[in-house]
Amino acid sequence: MLKRLCPRFQIKYLADLDPNFLLERGLKGLMLDLDNTLVAWGEYNVSSEMITWVHKMKKAGLKLCIISNALEQRVRIVGEILDIPWVSQAIKPRKSAFKRALEILDTKPSETATVGDQLFTDIWGGNRMALFTIWTTPLSARELLFTKFVRYFERKVVKMLRKKGIICE
Ligand SMILES: [Mg+2]
Repeated sequence: MLKRLCPRFQIKYLADLDPNFLLERGLKGLMLDLDNTLVAWGEYNVSSEMITWVHKMKKAGLKLCIISNALEQRVRIVGEILDIPWVSQAIKPRKSAFKRALEILDTKPSETATVGDQLFTDIWGGNRMALFTIWTTPLSARELLFTKFVRYFERKVVKMLRKKGIICE
């Protein structure tokens, strides 16, 4: 169980992710979580820094796709602002939306990374699909009450992973 929740890589902030880091590992596609990864929770305002970062990733030749459990309307707004495709109401960690995103990206799992702020949805789902999973620190402390509840268990998992020396900090 623990292994399934373990990200392959950790970052503090999405905009710090360098396109070459992915390209050097043969990764061509990147799935992006929306809430607390691309934008603050419940928001659709994209920071200028994130817009610049998305532009840099695209220019480097990476294919991007938003994959979010949020409702279509808000995911679409962000997708249109950034001009990248999206899959909404994804029900991560279920596999179906990841499969849909792979079709959109037109990449194999081995060529695809996924980034998100939650171990139990983004990382577990990505690992189930054998994607290169990247865990990021949430952009804000605001989130669904249910997510706050799940974070309690996430902290326990993180503690165990740290103890085993699998993840740092
Ligand atoms: Mg999220």
